[in-house]
Amino acid sequence: GIVYVNGEYLPAEEAKISVFDRGFLMADAIYELTAVVDGKLIDFPAHLARLDRSLAELDIVNPHGYDEWLALHRELVARNAVTEGSVYVEVTRGNTGERAFEYPPAEIPPTVVAFATNRPGIVDSPAAAAGLRIVTLPDLRWQRRDIKTVQLIYQAQAKMLAKRAGADDGWLVEDGFVTEGTSNNAYIVRKGRIVTRPLGNDILHGITRASLLRFAREAQMEVEERQFTVAEAQAADEAFITSATGFVTPVVEIDGTAVGTGKPGPVALRLREIYIDESRKTAL
Ligand code: PLP
Repeated sequence: GIVYVNGEYLPAEEAKISVFDRGFLMADAIYELTAVVDGKLIDFPAHLARLDRSLAELDIVNPHGYDEWLALHRELVARNAVTEGSVYVEVTRGNTGERAFEYPPAEIPPTVVAFATNRPGIVDSPAAAAGLRIVTLPDLRWQRRDIKTVQLIYQAQAKMLAKRAGADDGWLVEDGFVTEGTSNNAYIVRKGRIVTRPLGNDILHGITRASLLRFAREAQMEVEERQFTVAEAQAADEAFITSATGFVTPVVEIDGTAVGTGKPGPVALRLREIYIDESRKTAL
């Protein structure tokens, strides 16, 4: 495919960054992943706002304005003929020509890398139809999970542990409460109410989460932002996760215990439909 590196669109095999890039040496970088449906960007302004916030939290100056970012995303969608899939963008603190812990001087420009992936089947998703089996794992990440950094090693490890345990994904647990999934936000449904952990530094502020909770409230559904335990989740009527490319995906099993009927629940399926319908309306 065609990728973007620091102002150039290149075949992936010709794209290069320095060995001394802070993103490579220190995971000193942030990223965003935006879903593409019908060739259009889902929830784009919110993803850009979070990109801006992640950069500000790390004292990296955003190298592009809104219009430039939008044009870059659209260019990658067009050049790679993406109809359904995603656009990934990453901004690192740049190539400092050495390895040092101190931040480089302000004149060192950030590195920008981006690519688009065609992934048909995110809307008509077999995983969403079947529901996911989850295992729980301790949340061993750092404590600024609200910043979307590329420091994803524990998420990768947790995902592998879940897969090796025969599950589809993992939910992370801290002090007895579920924080979130390895790459998604976690929810349960009890007596028709949607329950999810409140925002803080301990979870990523999911863009899908924000939109979904708004749509749910607009549809007169009750939302409770509070922590829940694994035992409460296992005893819930339903469970599900949200993420940019997974939208709303039902969870049918937690640590070997069936949730509700053990099939995707009606609330989760309805929310999936609402999210996809509504977010398509504002797609760019
Ligand atoms: N939580 C974590 C840890 C994630 O990595 C992600 C997505 O990558 C999410 C939640 C969901 O966020 P969003 O809905 O913005 O994709």
